[in-house]
Amino acid sequence: NLQLVWLRSDLRIHDNSALAAAAAKGPVVAVFLRSIEQWCDHGHGANKLDFWARGVSAVKASLTGLNIPLLHRDIGRYGEAPDVLLEIAREHQVTQLHFNYEYPLNEQRRDQAVLEAFKQAGITAQGHHDAIAFAPGSLLTGKGDYYGVFTPFSKAWHKQITAEQLALRDTPKVQSPLDITSDPLPALPTLDDEPLDGRLWPAGENAASDNLERFLRFRGRYYKDQRDIPKVRGTSELSPYLALGMISHRQCLQAVMSENGGHLADGDAGLTTWVNELIWREFYQHVAVGFPQVCRYQPFQEHTKQLQWRDDDAGFTSWCEGRTGYPIVDAAMRQLITTGWMHNRLRMITAMFLSKHLLIDWRRGEAFFMRHLVDGEFCANNGGWQWAASTGTDAAPYFRIFNPTTQSTRFDPDGEFIAHWLPELTSLPAKARHAPPQDMLNPVDYPAPIVDHKAARQRALDAFKALSK
Ligand code: FAD
Repeated sequence: NLQLVWLRSDLRIHDNSALAAAAAKGPVVAVFLRSIEQWCDHGHGANKLDFWARGVSAVKASLTGLNIPLLHRDIGRYGEAPDVLLEIAREHQVTQLHFNYEYPLNEQRRDQAVLEAFKQAGITAQGHHDAIAFAPGSLLTGKGDYYGVFTPFSKAWHKQITAEQLALRDTPKVQSPLDITSDPLPALPTLDDEPLDGRLWPAGENAASDNLERFLRFRGRYYKDQRDIPKVRGTSELSPYLALGMISHRQCLQAVMSENGGHLADGDAGLTTWVNELIWREFYQHVAVGFPQVCRYQPFQEHTKQLQWRDDDAGFTSWCEGRTGYPIVDAAMRQLITTGWMHNRLRMITAMFLSKHLLIDWRRGEAFFMRHLVDGEFCANNGGWQWAASTGTDAAPYFRIFNPTTQSTRFDPDGEFIAHWLPELTSLPAKARHAPPQDMLNPVDYPAPIVDHKAARQRALDAFKALSK
């Protein structure tokens, strides 16, 4: 009665629906299919791939403690998944395959192909909805459509969430050893970029739950006030762990409830604001399923397809390198390159700067983020970029264009974040760091602004106005 669990972006043994369902039925063997070619096609860079590999290694150690062997196969592309899984299932006479669904389009197609192949082979296979509380399609508007706006989605989420959806899944008990040995885990091949030092982002469930605990103990209650201040470590920094399932949304929500008298929507404002961010995460996963054009390089808002983006390689390079002459943008880009992570407020500022001030196609920015982010996750990244570019759900009205200098004064009032990432500006008085006057820059290697805010803003407005709705 052997059960096969196919692990993907759910690298944990606790609260894992597929693993719990498998362990309830019989002895378990797990498998991981490394699909580097496909992941590189999807734009994941070395930081994410390295974190993923370290996560597999961590979950292997946990599985070994339960006597669950972990098989490892390199498949390159998703198309090979059905045959490779069937081969394993036949070799070990597996009764049932289990996995947790992933929602971007290519992952959905891969999973359907696997289910189909198992059906034809007469072996039971079951997908589980695990990464989010509501299976896509089960939380719809009154008209039966997918939500394209966040606030009503969030309201419906709070109204319909049940204790059953939030209940933690059982952790498998230690099983009797099987006659199957785990595969050694191969090293990552050489990639275009070298990954950052892994100590920046220790992988695995233990690191993730330590992070969650420390966040809730020390910062959760201040989250509402501090989440927008980049120099403060005010957010959870759990995104890489959530993206690869080293921690689950249920574990996060349960931890909030135990700090907040059992509530998710009422009580401490810091904690409930944080819950809202987890719902954003879920929202964008529903969007990927309900509006699959976003998975095909298309804007959510059809009419923005005709927008005339500018070809501006020099501008793009300045943005990537953090040399736009707008210190808050440049500091943020350096944070991304140096740590594989960027603060949410800064993701919004930099994404808006690229798509509005430079009027460069948001897809170039989306890809650049994906290449560097350790938390790169299609739905959130695409959702965030399309929001900033006013092509997406909840589209920021196109005329709302952040003024980077005002944002900087507001969210980094003492210019400390800027000074940290742009040491060349530390000698300037704090107030001058947001928009250094040219005469102060003379002895300093820092560029003048590559665009004028007012003129760039007008250019973006004109481009959007030219669109017919
Ligand atoms: P917290 O503030 O502690 O939030 C908790 C969790 O909620 C996060 O870990 C994340 O899983 C989720 N979350 C928070 N904000 C959002 C959001 N706006 N949309 C979706 N989920 C959210 N997030 C990613 O996980 N991967 C990405 O590739 C990604 N790309 C982004 C690109 C742009 C242009 C923008 C504007 C946002 C992007 N985000 C992305 C969302 C958000 O910036 C990060 O999730 C957040 O900064 C991670 O830090 P944290 O874990 O400390 O978040």
